[in-house]
Amino acid sequence: MYTFLHRSKIALLATLLLTGFASCQSYNQTDKTDIAAAKQPETPAVDSVRLAARRPAPEFYILTPDIYKNRVYVCDDIYSDVFHVKYDCEVLAKCDATKRNVTLVTAIRDFGRYNCEVCSPELAHVFDEEKVR
Ligand SMILES: [Zn+2]
Repeated sequence: MYTFLHRSKIALLATLLLTGFASCQSYNQTDKTDIAAAKQPETPAVDSVRLAARRPAPEFYILTPDIYKNRVYVCDDIYSDVFHVKYDCEVLAKCDATKRNVTLVTAIRDFGRYNCEVCSPELAHVFDEEKVR
């Protein structure tokens, strides 16, 4: 998209590409913030460090018929990227937003969640593209 620039502006081009890349990254993050914030208009100041730690929604998952309707818990804030099998999970206990009880498929597809390493490590296979099934 910068091919129209003259050779003399190569340094500028490099700078533009770098800053362009950086702003693309932050744009994507902002995008998600807006969507999540729309669900929770009362959300206080955004903690950008916690937000940056949030993983993007899973691109790959396989849910077998015997588990996809299993019910799990999600903390419905803009920072969480996991679902919980146990309601008394120590990670879920730190949730100060609404806790929702949803199906596993909803947690992954609609909330973009991964399995919680504390209470549901046995569900990591759902996101394992390499696993032989
Ligand atoms: Zn958990």
